[in-house]
Amino acid sequence: MQGGKAEITTVQIDYSYLKMSLVKKEFLQKARKTAFDRRHRQTLRFNISRYDAAVAKGKATYGNLALAKARAAYIKQLTVNNLHDCLLQFEENLTAHGGTVIWAENATEAIAAILKLLHEHNAHTVVKSKSMTTEEVDFNEHAATADIESLETDLGEYIVQLAGEKPYHIVTPAMHKSKEDIARLFHDKFGTPPDSTPETITAFVRQLLRDKFRHAEVGVTGANFLIADSGAIAVTENEGNALMTVSFPKIHIAVAGIEKVIPSLESLGLLWPLLAVHGTGQRVTAYNSIISGPRRTDGEAPEVDGPEKMYVILLDNGRSKLYGRLPQAQALRCIRCGACLNACPIYKNIGGYTYAATYSGPIGSVITPFYKGFADYGHLSFACTVCGRCSEVCPVSLPLHRLLLFNRHDAVEQGTAGRMWGMAMNAARYILGKRRRMDRIPGRLKNAAFLAGKNMLGARKSMPHFAEHSFSQMWKHQR
Ligand code: SF4
Repeated sequence: MQGGKAEITTVQIDYSYLKMSLVKKEFLQKARKTAFDRRHRQTLRFNISRYDAAVAKGKATYGNLALAKARAAYIKQLTVNNLHDCLLQFEENLTAHGGTVIWAENATEAIAAILKLLHEHNAHTVVKSKSMTTEEVDFNEHAATADIESLETDLGEYIVQLAGEKPYHIVTPAMHKSKEDIARLFHDKFGTPPDSTPETITAFVRQLLRDKFRHAEVGVTGANFLIADSGAIAVTENEGNALMTVSFPKIHIAVAGIEKVIPSLESLGLLWPLLAVHGTGQRVTAYNSIISGPRRTDGEAPEVDGPEKMYVILLDNGRSKLYGRLPQAQALRCIRCGACLNACPIYKNIGGYTYAATYSGPIGSVITPFYKGFADYGHLSFACTVCGRCSEVCPVSLPLHRLLLFNRHDAVEQGTAGRMWGMAMNAARYILGKRRRMDRIPGRLKNAAFLAGKNMLGARKSMPHFAEHSFSQMWKHQR
């Protein structure tokens, strides 16, 4: 009591263990639905089978792929270990070439910086090449809100943008669509023949985009690599659209995660082909550009082509959090080839959209909890059979399935895996720890315990039936 008044203390009770996060609930619902969608599985299986065949051929061109992967892992890990110095070196060198580096701690800062630049340069139309980092900050949506047209120029990205969707896969954005789906989409949107071939659709889009390239004030790209010793960005692609994105408009904005930095131009000779082989099966992709600042107008031979200004947005957005957590920080080595997605049995069944995250598949499940929080995305680390296929195919030798186990450990430590899960695991550990304890519980009790609650395996599967006596009991009895 104080001054005759009763003090009211608010006691906060944590009920979080009782409710499943909405993101997780949606994940489970979508996973159940997509895994049994036969058409979706057929399309995915077909597209991944073509990828597998191309990659097998690409890998065969290496005399010693294991050595190349070990070297790539070493170079990337060395850069991650010296991330701070490499980024500063990149900034210093790009600035010396006339470029500008802008540091963004999160998506909000990145978007604010980009929109400011777009307004300063009076932009009405932006052409964009493929970039998962711009997806991460929802650039297109923010541009639309600011009344700026942002047009994807990579064919796969253009298809998903036209369909009002997000990329389904980090390398192959329209992997979930068959050529018939795409022909139908173009028929609905533009009135093209419903049975258009991929060739006629490509020609149609090429024509449509050319005009946009000519009129866009700003070109936005990602960067596959940031080269520290050269102060340049490296962009790899197959359609020439990224090259046009940086050469037609007067302003070039590149958005890249801070983990994209590599130490030297020399290392590109190893990393570029590895990325191509694991991404699409090509020895090298068709167009590879190294852009080291805006057009130079000084010196003996002033340049006539290229942007007048170049900005590089360096995005953190949770990467520092990942950097601070060992051993998961190794995931910053990723070069976004997409190979682990194509190899993953979970991805192949539940598909890219079920993850509800920019980065899906094994790499997405490792990094997303750090980027967007364990409370909402920790469950992704449990969506894994720990088969290890992703780790086998990774060109920078990331032990992805092991990192997922470390994530699970962190989720349990943080209490985000749910207390019921922890209690169930503790009970299971106790019972499974000794054969005697297991045998003491008769089969009918085990069945009753498991079947009394909801079927954990979902409506389409039945729970296994426990025998009345365990194998060891029956064995003993027979002898
Ligand atoms: S984790 Fe490895 S396999 Fe997966 S996208 Fe990154 S580099 Fe490719």
